[in-house]
Amino acid sequence: MPIDRKTFLRVAGCSVAGALAGGKLVQVVSAAQDAAPSSAPGALTASRWGMVIDTRKCLKDEGCVACIEACHQAHNVPSIPDPRREVKWIWKEKVAHALPSQESEYPNPELAEREVLVFCNHCDEPPCVRVCPTQATWKRDSDGIVMMDWHRCIGCRYCVAACPYGSRSFNWSDPRPDIARITADYPTRSKGVVEKCTFCNERLAQGQLPHCVESCPEGALVFGDLADPNSEVRRLLAENLIFRRKPELGTKPEVFYIL
Ligand code: SF4
Repeated sequence: MPIDRKTFLRVAGCSVAGALAGGKLVQVVSAAQDAAPSSAPGALTASRWGMVIDTRKCLKDEGCVACIEACHQAHNVPSIPDPRREVKWIWKEKVAHALPSQESEYPNPELAEREVLVFCNHCDEPPCVRVCPTQATWKRDSDGIVMMDWHRCIGCRYCVAACPYGSRSFNWSDPRPDIARITADYPTRSKGVVEKCTFCNERLAQGQLPHCVESCPEGALVFGDLADPNSEVRRLLAENLIFRRKPELGTKPEVFYIL
C-alpha cells in the first residue's frame, strides 16, 4: 500500500472538498502517494529510478530463478499454470521475443535463444497510465515509478491492452487459493484487479533495494538513479552497448539490457 488507511481517509476527505470546488479527486490522492517516499526517514530516493540487467551474468547461473521466486513470494503473486490466467511480475523471455527490434535475417543463434528477465519497464512515457480511467495507475512525480493502487482498479483492462510489453496481469479469479504461502506484510489482490511490478516501492521506502536485485547471486541486476551521472547505472550505460525493449514505440523504458 503506498499510503496507510488513515492518510488515505484524510486525503479523501480533502479531495471531496476539492471535487466540490471543481478539483480532481484522483489527482489529490496521487499527490499524497507521491509524497510518501521522500518523507520516510532512511528511504532510498532518486530523481529517476532505473534498472540495468547484464544478461551475460544472468547466464552464468543457468536455470536460476532466485529473483523471480523472491519477488513473487514477497508480493503474494499466485502460481497459476494456465497461461491464459497466469499472473506474473517478473519472468524470462527469449531475446528474440523480448527485444524483437534486434532481429536480423542473420541472427546470432546463441543470442536469439538466450533468456532475459522482463518486467514492467516503468516507462517514462507510459501508455498504460494514459488509458486508465480511474488513475489507479500513475507515474510517480518524485522518482518516475509507475505505481498501482489496486483499490482504485476497476478491472477494465485498458492498461493491459495498452502495455506493449505484456507487463500487466489480470486476476481472472481470486488469486489467494493459488498462493502457496501468503506473506502477511504485503497485501493480496482480489478477482478483477490488474497487477504488476512496482520496483518494490515498499522496500525503497524502508531503505532496501528491490527483491530481484538483492536476491541475484551474480549481481546481474543493478538499480539506481538515472538522473545521477555518478550512479552505477549511469556508469554501466556509459560503458556498454545498451538495448531497451521496443524503443521505436517512444515509451522510453527505464529498464536497460546488456547482451
Ligand atoms: Fe506501463 Fe507496460 Fe511501460 Fe510498465 S512496461 S510502464 S505496464 S506500458
